[in-house]
This record gives sequence, structure tokens and C-alpha cells, in this order.
Amino acid sequence: MSVKEKILIVGAGLSGAVIGRELAQEGYKVDILDARNHIGGNCHTVRDETTGVMVHVYGPHIFHTDDAEVWDYVNGFTTFMPYKNRVKTTSGGQVFSLPVNLHTINQFFGKTFRPDEARVFLEEQADKTISDPQTFEEQALRFVGNDLYEAFFKGYTQKQWGCSPTELPASILKRLPVRFNYDDNYFFHKFQGMPANGYTEMIEDILDHPNINVSLETSFRRDQVAGYAHVFYSGPLDGYFDYELGRLGYRTLDFERFTYDGDYQGCAVMNYGDVAVPYTRITEHKHFSPWEEHKGSVCYREFSRACGPEDIPYYPIRLVEEKAQLADYVGRAEQEKDVTFVGRLGTYRYLDMDVTIREALDTARLYLARRHEGTAMSAFLHAPL
Ligand SMILES: Cc1cc2nc3c(=O)[nH]c(=O)nc-3n(C[C@H](O)[C@H](O)[C@H](O)COP(=O)(O)OP(=O)(O)OC[C@H]3O[C@@H](n4cnc5c(N)ncnc54)[C@H](O)[C@@H]3O)c2cc1C
Repeated sequence: MSVKEKILIVGAGLSGAVIGRELAQEGYKVDILDARNHIGGNCHTVRDETTGVMVHVYGPHIFHTDDAEVWDYVNGFTTFMPYKNRVKTTSGGQVFSLPVNLHTINQFFGKTFRPDEARVFLEEQADKTISDPQTFEEQALRFVGNDLYEAFFKGYTQKQWGCSPTELPASILKRLPVRFNYDDNYFFHKFQGMPANGYTEMIEDILDHPNINVSLETSFRRDQVAGYAHVFYSGPLDGYFDYELGRLGYRTLDFERFTYDGDYQGCAVMNYGDVAVPYTRITEHKHFSPWEEHKGSVCYREFSRACGPEDIPYYPIRLVEEKAQLADYVGRAEQEKDVTFVGRLGTYRYLDMDVTIREALDTARLYLARRHEGTAMSAFLHAPL
């Protein structure tokens, strides 16, 4: 087979699987490799042998989108069950509903406000001395005032990002983070659900094509590029260049797994807003599959911290310093021939699953169009900065 027909994809997560499938269907021979011993990337799910619970190994994943094509795409590979994410938070010794909504406000302040009354009340709480908020803290104080900020935003944000909200930009909190009704559905999207048998089975089906060959526990080497018509790389952007310009900053997560005989917390996600509690949340995985019944339970206590060289990079930090470093890596990437950087790690962005799939579909289509025209494929679908 000629090199022209062979494609290498680094990473068997959603990005790699979707690009691989699209190109395999067009007749390309696709080699996919992944350093891990399983497919699915961070969406990997596995059924716990003892309890039978479907566990989201790298943290909970809820599918939500307004993109009808993406929704049809995933439903073409698996059955989605209805699932709405309803998050609770423990703060100051009480349990509240999130996102902050009318129920939260009424419970927190001991009121029975109707929507308009709550709106007026919150305007009174807001710190109007802040005219041009620069930091996350100033933005939150201007939107919701000190009491709600302290209970629902300050501690959680501090634990999540490992720094004071006074050091984070106001842009993180773009809109008023409060609802003046009793809607506690965490996401606004039209299509929401959970794959009936987990994400790994869905990704297995995406990869199930005679033109796709997957090698696990196989790390990418840069000298492999020459053997292929094109490489789609969904590993870390800085990792591709052996971290020559330093490491892009990430937050990592530690999951402290524990089991429970029964129902541990009565919901899938319980946040912990108090700084004194070292973890950010507890997830109870059987509640992500409410159509199943399991006596036993598997839970994760989730801790956030700075990502070291041996840790799994989860959330890109993307503050001023990281953006400057990113610009340097983007410059290097644009010099590479026949390599396109994709996915959450390849573009150093937080991407939800639906956006990941949308970009993977668009990337494969752009590649096919460029091949058709005889022009070179770009290093990125969208500029990562
Ligand atoms: C804690 C957490 C919760 C999330 N929850 C949600 C959610 O509720 N809803 C939602 O829509 N999205 C969620 N996401 C986002 C979701 O995880 C991503 O959209 C998705 O994983 C992106 O897929 P990807 O293929 O780009 O990256 P990944 O899933 O990271 O896959 C990349 C793959 O590349 C492999 N790889 C890397 N480097 C190399 C190398 N050098 N050689 C070989 N293989 C390599 C890795 O092993 C990995 O398998 C969440 C993310 C996190 C971190």
C-alpha cells in the first residue's frame, strides 16, 4: 500500500476515533495508536465487576449538545438513555441545589421570593462599588454579593484552580450565574443523555471498521510521521515537541475511589463549597445510569491540584503565562509538515464531547477537501489562541 493512502492517528479517544472512522469510510487505511491499555481516552467507562455499576474512570461524563448532527452521529453508534444532570452542593452544613436558582436563594436566605422579588433582592446584594470588575472575585461580588459568593463560588473555585479567585480573570464568570426559576437542570442543551452501555462501547463501535487498526500501549514517536500521508495528533501539544519550550500548565485530578453498600448520597454529584473540605465533589456513579439497579455503589472523592510531569493533564489553565507559551508551541506546530493537532490536548483547550466530535468531523472533512484540491492540510482546524 502506498504511503499516500495511510493515515496515522495518535490517540484512541473521541477525537482520534471520529477522524479515523470518517477517513476509513473514504477508503484510507488508518492506524490508531494509544499509549493507554484501553480505547476511549478520558471518556473511558468500565463496568465494576463487584457492584455492576458503570464507572466513569476519568471522572463523570454527561453528554449534552445543541448540535443535531452530532447528536444523530452518536445515536448512530449506541442507544442514549435520558439523563439530566442535577447537581447538589454541601455548604456551611446545609445541602443546596445548583446551579444557584430560586430554590437555592430562597433556602439560603430563608425567603419565599417570587422571581421578580429575588431579582430585586440580588441587585441589592450586589456590590455596586465595583464598576469595572477585573478578577473572578470582583465579578462574582458585583453579580451576586458577598453571601452567595462565599457560599457557592469562592471555596469551590479556590479548590478547583488552586489559587485565590482574586488571581483569576473576571472572564471566567461571563454571565450572571443565577437562575430566577426552579430549573435545576445543569445544562441548557436541547439533547442530553447517557450512552446505555457506557462511552467505551460507543467508541468501540466507532472504531469498528475494516480499514482501522488500533494498537494499544503504544506511544507515538515523531519519526513515524514519514511513513504516513498525514498524522492527526490528539496527544499533548507540548509533548509532541518533547516539552522543549517548557510544560503548558494543567490542573490534574485525583480520584479517591470508595464503595458503599446502598445509596451513599442519593444523587450523582455532590459539590463541596467549603474550603475546609479538601475535595471539590463526590460522584456516585450508579446515579449516572438511573435506568439500572445496583445494590452496591462506587463513589469518587475528587481532588484538584497542579499537574506534574507524571500526572494526567485534565484542565488547561490558559492564563496569561500559559497563553504566551502556547503561542510559541502553535508557531512550532505550524512549521510541521503533514501533522494536524486535534482534540483537547492537541489544541490545549477544554472541549466538551460534542465540540470534540464536531471538530473531529470538520477536521476529517477539511482533510478530504484539501486532498481533493491538492492543497496542504493546516496544523489546526481553528487557531487555538
Ligand atoms: C474531569 C472531566 C470531566 C468531563 N466531563 C465532561 C462532560 O460531562 N461532558 C462533556 O461533554 N465533556 C466532558 N469532558 C470533556 C471530555 O473528556 C473531552 O471532550 C474528550 O475526552 C476529548 O477527547 P479527545 O480524544 O480530544 O482527548 P482524550 O480523551 O484525552 O484522548 C486522547 C488520547 O490520546 C492518547 N495519547 C496522548 N498522548 C499520546 C502519545 N504520545 N502516544 C499515544 N497515545 C497518546 C491518550 O492516552 C488518550 O487516550 C470532561 C473532561 C474532564 C477532564
